[in-house]
Amino acid sequence: MTTTPHSAIIIDGVALSQKLRSEVSARVQALRARGITPGLAVILVGDSPASQVYVRNKVKGCQDCGFHSVLEKYDASLTETELLARIDALNHDPAIHGILVQLPVPKHIDATKVIEAISPQKDVDGFHVASAGALMTGLPGFLPCTPYGCMKMLESINYDLRGKHAVVIGRSNIVGKPMALMLLQKNATVTICHSATPDLKLFTQMADVIVAAVGKRNVLTADMVKPGAVVLDVGMNRNEEGKLCGDVDFEGVRQVASAITPVPGGVGPMTITMLLVNTLEAAERAENSQP
Ligand code: NAP
Repeated sequence: MTTTPHSAIIIDGVALSQKLRSEVSARVQALRARGITPGLAVILVGDSPASQVYVRNKVKGCQDCGFHSVLEKYDASLTETELLARIDALNHDPAIHGILVQLPVPKHIDATKVIEAISPQKDVDGFHVASAGALMTGLPGFLPCTPYGCMKMLESINYDLRGKHAVVIGRSNIVGKPMALMLLQKNATVTICHSATPDLKLFTQMADVIVAAVGKRNVLTADMVKPGAVVLDVGMNRNEEGKLCGDVDFEGVRQVASAITPVPGGVGPMTITMLLVNTLEAAERAENSQP
């Protein structure tokens, strides 16, 4: 008798993005018919090649869905005061519903000050302390795009988190911590692991859901995963050949997991999609708050 090796369902972030983006386009058309075009301003300071690619993809995503988008590129010598003044002007611009400053910013600019300068009503990255506080307390706000995308991926396979044990590897403010809070909100029991966790495998082996958000290749290997677990790979790394890869040993883990996200083509495209969703929401909220 031959046995077919087990292989996990691949959660395709490109296909799911296409579906969600067509829903966004339809809502954009409806808003435009009422005289409002959702607008996103993207600010890039400096000429980091990676950041250039990210902002280009964000602006293209906007154009494809019928948004108004503005890309403001500044030389790395832009002062903090000048950047804050630009954000203030955009905060007051009625054609702009979402503002995003591509991080990292040059060292002479305080990133926290920049994030806090964005109006919470336009904080479509969900990084402002008001957005973080809203998530923490269960109030409406903007969810950070990457963990929001991960939640949509779980939703796409009808995964019910109630009563499940979720392990998040990584505790950054933009991925790990908000991810843990979103999983908690959906009634998972959540463990957060980080660089000071002494025995990562001890926790991951108990997990029904694992989110890897570290930025190191092969942080999660097949021996660390319980059979049937769902694995979401947020990591973006390069292998020896320079190819994009995640934190998870994809080929090994797919033999054990019940569902897994690939890199590329997984969480990455979902991040931009959720930015579009947040910008659309910002425009819809602005419309509803008009007197
Ligand atoms: P980060 O700020 O560098 O955080 C990494 C986290 O991993 C930290 O909490 C760190 O712990 C933890 N960590 C480091 N080594 C570890 C280890 N050996 N075992 C367990 N935990 C460990 O990174 P980030 O911004 O959250 O991003 C994480 C990864 O996701 C990166 O590869 C990034 O490029 C990628 N990313 C992808 C997207 C996307 O759209 N796909 C979006 C954002 C980020 P400490 O807190 O103790 O230092």
